[in-house]
Amino acid sequence: MTKTVAVLGTGIMGSGMARNLVKAGLDVTVWNRNPGRARPLADAGARIATDVAEAVAGADVVVTMLFDADSVAQVMEEALPAMAPDAVWVQTSTVGLEGTDQLAALAARHDVAFLDAPVLGTKAPAEQGTLTVLVGGPSALRDAVTPVFDAIGSKTIWVGDRPGEGHKLKLVANSWVGMVTVGTGQAIALAGALGLDPQLFLDVIAGGPLDLPYAQLKGKSMIAGEFPTSFAVSGVVKDLDLIAAAMRGADVHTDVVDAVAQAFRAADATGHGDEDMAAVVHAFRPKS
Ligand code: NAP
Repeated sequence: MTKTVAVLGTGIMGSGMARNLVKAGLDVTVWNRNPGRARPLADAGARIATDVAEAVAGADVVVTMLFDADSVAQVMEEALPAMAPDAVWVQTSTVGLEGTDQLAALAARHDVAFLDAPVLGTKAPAEQGTLTVLVGGPSALRDAVTPVFDAIGSKTIWVGDRPGEGHKLKLVANSWVGMVTVGTGQAIALAGALGLDPQLFLDVIAGGPLDLPYAQLKGKSMIAGEFPTSFAVSGVVKDLDLIAAAMRGADVHTDVVDAVAQAFRAADATGHGDEDMAAVVHAFRPKS
């Protein structure tokens, strides 16, 4: 039975996840590159490790929640030799299909069990323990990781028995998130540019078949011009590149995802990279 969990990466998502692991009664150790971001978790009941090897020593499950495949590989090169022989590595960062293959191979070289387990949901669901976990990997590991998935999420979908299967569904879902956010930004900006009150767009779709809680949420933030970060524009740019790579690998046209990515890149290039993805509305500012 899993009792001890190490969380590597206590950014927006990792912090909320670690708090819920503690709340579930698990023995949690956290590590973050910038220790200042891990420190508040001590009050919640987590142990703060000063280095990666110390964090993972004796853990039944090691959770990675870092930015991308390179940062995960870098940290796990250090962690893997220090992990217990029967420990499971649960990889929740969004790293794409190629990234997942590389990380699964890294785990295999160290003879450590690996689960591809990206999550759906943003800052608030991470804090509330209501993420959806999309798992790719052997179901024989299910008992060992169920306490972890039940603590961080309200739903776990075992997509397939191979690493990468979880990420396929994650990329599909994020392609939708990117489209919806850009579509909302475009409509809000167009309304404003045509001299309308942009709120009229949200009002006109409200309660009808075209309405979406996500459009209302992000649209409100776009109209207010307030972008407290749940998921940063820079992270969306990374994910859209991973989606485009998966589409090319599957021989699917990338024209639309490329246009969506271009809008997020424009917001990134004009200084909004650290703001919430709703800041993509800046890409639609009138040219003049
Ligand atoms: P975040 O707040 O920016 O956290 C990123 C984490 O990665 C931080 O702990 C950061 O450490 C660490 N990191 C980055 N580069 C590193 C390196 N080279 N070495 C060691 N640590 C490194 O981002 P987040 O929103 O929590 O996202 C984390 C992952 O979850 C990403 O893969 C993202 O795509 C995915 N995701 C995010 C959301 C969301 O809505 N936010 C939802 C689902 C999935 P420092 O604090 O030291 O910089």
